[in-house]
Amino acid sequence: MSCDHPDLLPLEVALRLLWEALPAPVQPEVRAERDDPATDRASMDGIALLASEGRAPRRILGTLFAGSDPAAFSVTPGTAVRIMTGAAMPSGANAIVPVEQIEMHGEIARPMIVPDPGDHVRSRGDQARSGDLLLAAETPLNAARVALLAQEGLLLPTRPRIRVGVASTGDELVPSPAPYQIRDSNGPMLADLAQTLGAEVELRPALPDEPATLARALGHPGAIRILLTSGGVSMGDHDHLPAVLSDLGATTLFHRIRLKPGKPMLAALLGDLLVLGLPGNPVSAYLNALLFLPVALARLEGRAMPDPWRRARLSAPVKHKADRPLLHPCRLVEGRLEPLPGKGSADLITLAKADAFAWIDEGGLDAGTKVRYLTIV
Ligand code: AMP
Ligand code: MG
Repeated sequence: MSCDHPDLLPLEVALRLLWEALPAPVQPEVRAERDDPATDRASMDGIALLASEGRAPRRILGTLFAGSDPAAFSVTPGTAVRIMTGAAMPSGANAIVPVEQIEMHGEIARPMIVPDPGDHVRSRGDQARSGDLLLAAETPLNAARVALLAQEGLLLPTRPRIRVGVASTGDELVPSPAPYQIRDSNGPMLADLAQTLGAEVELRPALPDEPATLARALGHPGAIRILLTSGGVSMGDHDHLPAVLSDLGATTLFHRIRLKPGKPMLAALLGDLLVLGLPGNPVSAYLNALLFLPVALARLEGRAMPDPWRRARLSAPVKHKADRPLLHPCRLVEGRLEPLPGKGSADLITLAKADAFAWIDEGGLDAGTKVRYLTIV
């Protein structure tokens, strides 16, 4: 779908397009290097014994700790070994009686219960057999899956932070503004957000609304993987970014989405560089960065597609007449979404008071309606 498509793209479709346009790191399948566990192991602190001797007293031969070689002991009738969680079972023993269920008299242990064979023992291979498939190829990584790679002795992924450049656009952006000018608030906002989301951020000076300068900046982006721009993607005479990107040979993933605020949102690939062309209005820029940047980062880092949506009830009605869904700034008060009386997409002051954006369908919603919302980070 390109920028000349007559319909606005639904948000979910835009997110999916972005996800699929980016390459995930290669993740080979993971197979068990050996049986898991590789030997019978204790799953409780207690004594290892032969279950069939029931509650008969046992003479303690010694202690096995996690990491001890179990060949040090051999359990024979009338004997037992003290054993700690994670230790390998000694030969001759087939059950563990936990310390809480043992009476000790010197070196004699008396079980207070009749154990069954296998009690509190993780038996060899009961989780996986050597060679079993543990993770299919291309499974997105998370911390637990990284642990599994470590357990199987596989190469751990190097997951450097993704480098994100931030550049605002607009001739009106100056450090000491006359009444007809403003400061660049989007740049610091987006840099802070990108950093919060785990990226390594480069905040660049604002760019003027001048096609040749924009083309130079975009054509030589430096060592970044993602460029967040703000402004210059709407229908105004000075909104040059779409044309500049297209002149540079970029592939437009989408331009204009079915969302309020944030309709002019643009995403394009310029070689390997992902350009997220956020609208200039602060609320739109923030909202779209919050929606799209986590998806791009997760994909490039080899994680699963994030699902940021939570659910709560509205504490007051929200009127909404436009022909596209609204994400409305709210405060979260005692688990309910309290809509803020905002003044639209330019209203940075309301954005700064908000905790969340609530999803309001076309036509508006009544108080008490359960809606999905996005937490402001
Ligand atoms: P644009 O999308 O470039 O048409 O900008 C829309 C509105 O957002 C205009 O009122 C801009 O002045 C404002 N705006 C654009 N960029 C920034 C920025 N970096 N910081 C604050 N406001 C901005
Ligand atoms: Mg502008």
